[in-house]
Amino acid sequence: MRRWAASVLLLLLASPTRPLDVGRRDFLTTISAATQSQTWTPTALEKLTLASAAQLDQLPFARYPDPILRLEAKPVRRFDAALAKTVALLRAAARRHGAQGLAATQCGVDAAIVLLGDEAFVNPRIVERSPEARLRCWTERCLALPPDVRVETLRDETLTVAATTAAGVPFTTTLTGAAARQFSHEYDHARGVLIIDHAYDAVASTAFPAMARLEEPFHTERRRRAWDRA
Ligand SMILES: [Zn+2]
Repeated sequence: MRRWAASVLLLLLASPTRPLDVGRRDFLTTISAATQSQTWTPTALEKLTLASAAQLDQLPFARYPDPILRLEAKPVRRFDAALAKTVALLRAAARRHGAQGLAATQCGVDAAIVLLGDEAFVNPRIVERSPEARLRCWTERCLALPPDVRVETLRDETLTVAATTAAGVPFTTTLTGAAARQFSHEYDHARGVLIIDHAYDAVASTAFPAMARLEEPFHTERRRRAWDRA
């Protein structure tokens, strides 16, 4: 059998019927088939704690369908040197990848941290949203997803966010327009939600043809979470 045909067959056989989060072995089989296409190289990052991330010189960067992208990040409990070092590493990773914003989970770190520019939001919470009638439509991309993936999203025009700085100082800020959109995107990452979950139907990707098949079984439930503005 020709190699590409074998890859396609393996992909079909390996597509998980359970959530990726619980099917690491299925996922790794899928990944080995998918990486043969060369168009999009997924990752399979190990989960890092703040303490283990702080030991590194550089953080990794997750690429779909890495299960780490579905992680619901743990709240940060200790505002210590490990947190400060990890936030510095996250800023460096954002610069390296040309990201305007970033969530720690995108680097495999199990901690509720969102970066917006250089500003760190530790344990962020959305405390107020503008009315639903003022939702704004955007077209979004994501560095964790294949480059051909674009999704129309509806985001709050204005958000009031409460969070803590890396130094442990609580703050509240109001974000509007593009800043509110960017924050929502990164806040989604911190709870395991991706822009493809916002689409009405499961999104397809030419660069990573397995995407539609991987997403379809879970899309309705994931869309429900993505659209939830509670
Ligand atoms: Zn993203």
